[in-house]
Amino acid sequence: MATNWQQLRAELPQLVEQSRVIAEEGEVATYIPGLANSPKDALGISIFDIKGERITIGDCGIGFTMQSISKVFSLLLALMDSGEERVFEKVGMEPTGDDFNSMLKLELVDPGKPFNPFINAGAIVIASLIAGETPAVKSARMLDFIRKLAKDNSIGWNEDVYSSERDTANRNRSLAYFLVDNGILEEDVEETLEVYFRQCAIQVSCANLAQMGLLLANNGFDTETGEQVIPRHFVQIVKSFMVTCGMYNASGEFAIQVGIPAKSGVSGGILAIVPGQMGIGVVGPALNNKGNSVAGVHLLARLSEQYDWSMF
Ligand code: GLU
Repeated sequence: MATNWQQLRAELPQLVEQSRVIAEEGEVATYIPGLANSPKDALGISIFDIKGERITIGDCGIGFTMQSISKVFSLLLALMDSGEERVFEKVGMEPTGDDFNSMLKLELVDPGKPFNPFINAGAIVIASLIAGETPAVKSARMLDFIRKLAKDNSIGWNEDVYSSERDTANRNRSLAYFLVDNGILEEDVEETLEVYFRQCAIQVSCANLAQMGLLLANNGFDTETGEQVIPRHFVQIVKSFMVTCGMYNASGEFAIQVGIPAKSGVSGGILAIVPGQMGIGVVGPALNNKGNSVAGVHLLARLSEQYDWSMF
């Protein structure tokens, strides 16, 4: 059912304010020092429709780093650069039920291949499959890809968040060494982590996410330019992962309560897609105990219920 934009425009301000109150129940991520000062009670949302309708409301002026949301796009770039066969030689297609930065299954399961590309171990391997002679070239290609999809050449890295993650990432470093030992990661650990931390530190706005989401909602086809920017099949792959693993260990709950492909990050961002209809970007830095924006999830659930967005 097509969304009634007149009604959405009228109701959204109130829905945002009602969800903002819930932010109190969450906590901002502090394990990356550069994220610790994010505004806890901020909440903003951008919704871009395929027919050209757009709305941006709430605290959308704040920039935030993509963090795990970047995993959607590094997977797309790796699929385009290295091909599906190579990618799935290195990562699986299943949810884990473990924490996003868990080491557990790398040791338990033979051959120690990450279960999917959205957990940290999987995303670190995926970063190594992006084409480029050096980490700097790979990172620049990733940034260019994001700029192209978001149609915004001013997007850059948040250097403070980047260096604070790089300097404190003992857990991700351990995962990477484990992956080398398991024969899964074939590139240098520090060089691969540089690419991974840089993709996580790309700073965006809600509107940037909505624009990128719109392209995914339209199966990789840009209606403005008539260009198939991303092969349709690769978009289908990432949308499937967004449904099964996009919201960490709350992906099942999110599928029931909201019912659309989405990917969250520890900065409090959420990228969501109403397939065939719209791209959505949300920011709300206070996280629930599953690592998802508490107010952001609440807002998306209200909207999905009100406007019948669930795919299921
Ligand atoms: N850079 C973060 C990390 O590796 C991303 C995690 C996330 O957003 O879930 O810990």
